[in-house]
Amino acid sequence: MKLNKLSPKSREELETHLKSKTPSFYHSSKTSTVIPYDHIESYLEDLGVLEFTMVNLTELPTHMELDGEGNLTIEGPVTWQEAKAYCHSKGRDIMTSPTEELACILAGFATSATGERCFGFGTLRDQVISLEYLNSKAEVHTLSSKNKLPINKELEEYQRSYNSFKDFKNAPFPRMEVETDLLTGTEGQLGVITKAILKTTVLEDRTFIFIKLPKWEENFSKHLEIFSKVQSFRDRIFSCELLDSNSMAVLPEEERIIESGDLIFLEVRSSAFESVYEDLISKFELITDEDMFEVPAAKSHRLRMNVPRFTFERNSRMGVVKKGTDVQVSPEKFPELLEIYKELSTLGIDYNLFGHFGDAHLHFNFLPDQTKVETCQEKLEELYRKVKSIGGSPFAEHGIGLIKQKFIADFLDPLHYVVFDQIKNEHDPENILFPMGFLNLNRSIG
Ligand SMILES: Cc1cc2nc3c(=O)[nH]c(=O)nc-3n(C[C@H](O)[C@H](O)[C@H](O)COP(=O)(O)OP(=O)(O)OC[C@H]3O[C@@H](n4cnc5c(N)ncnc54)[C@H](O)[C@@H]3O)c2cc1C
Repeated sequence: MKLNKLSPKSREELETHLKSKTPSFYHSSKTSTVIPYDHIESYLEDLGVLEFTMVNLTELPTHMELDGEGNLTIEGPVTWQEAKAYCHSKGRDIMTSPTEELACILAGFATSATGERCFGFGTLRDQVISLEYLNSKAEVHTLSSKNKLPINKELEEYQRSYNSFKDFKNAPFPRMEVETDLLTGTEGQLGVITKAILKTTVLEDRTFIFIKLPKWEENFSKHLEIFSKVQSFRDRIFSCELLDSNSMAVLPEEERIIESGDLIFLEVRSSAFESVYEDLISKFELITDEDMFEVPAAKSHRLRMNVPRFTFERNSRMGVVKKGTDVQVSPEKFPELLEIYKELSTLGIDYNLFGHFGDAHLHFNFLPDQTKVETCQEKLEELYRKVKSIGGSPFAEHGIGLIKQKFIADFLDPLHYVVFDQIKNEHDPENILFPMGFLNLNRSIG
């Protein structure tokens, strides 16, 4: 297996490579948890790939600009962290972003990234105005979120099947309604995104309220009280996140903010804090004021970011590929999801649970040693069968990449493969853009 690496430093170099028709994977910050970057060579070798090229987009030039209406133009490998700092300096804020802020914004469209603030602001699909990309022939195209995709019989059926997931952050297959959907969540298989224009919001002061709770495995009634009551506060609460006791335990001691039990935190618009206190917090029946405390924004943010980072680090230290979930279910099915996770917590394998609690979207991560990896794999397969039976979405934000492909088949019908084939044939007929991606699953599984 021969793995070539390339880092174009200009748009021209990128175009020249595209025109060479070399099958390639175009990456940005490499924070995706569904691409095994650490051992990509052996992974591809196992797939029977003889030669492949990894194209690093992070050395291309960047540009950021805010217009008078608060629309942000991003060109090149700008990270969420850089864009946030830029927007803040101009009194604006990014509405939603992945917890890992060193990821790139244009890659965020490719993975249909979501994050904490989806609770208050919805998804990137709601915020994008236009996307510019280079297609497989290195031609520049611009897609608008205002224009519908041309419809045919198969796409109509596909869109109907998407309807049952329309309230989820991401369905098991990308939405295909408007032009920008083509490059959103298709993981770089249809083109290289070079520019995006997205809406921003006014920068507002926020208050982070942390709520101490018992361990969810022992009793999650307090957790569920918060879940059901926060739902009607999405206009004043930007995020509602869970960090369970085991998430705290993966952190270095000096980073932990409580010694035992779980935490849920609410990111509240400070100007609306009084009304949130009066209408929500003071009305909790199972939770008292003594269970709550305020944490400065920067500290909350660091804590939230550190949990997945240290979880990831622990798995790397143990030499295992992430064995975690990215499942979102409907609010009615959330207690069932917690019961499913409760079963996984009794296997004698270390784990943690954290994530976007208010959106019924949690990451359960096994933290196994090498001897338990196979059991985890079997248990995850069982879990996905249950998720399917309760109508959940299996990969609500991290995407499918290479690692999750083995779990996707149950969630797709022949009609999805037909549309995947149609769009791949139309946009990348020579199959040079991430050819082993999920749009080609039909071909690879025969
Ligand atoms: C600690 C941690 C926390 C995370 N939290 C979240 C979270 O809250 N929400 C979330 O959604 N994700 C999260 N992720 C996953 C990851 O950060 C996102 O998937 C992110 O969008 C990947 O960005 P990247 O720049 O690292 O992309 P890469 O890993 O470099 O690439 C990811 C995919 O995008 C494609 N791609 C990259 N750039 C382009 C481009 N310019 N044009 C076309 N395709 C491109 C690649 O081909 C690949 O398929 C987390 C990851 C970690 C490690």
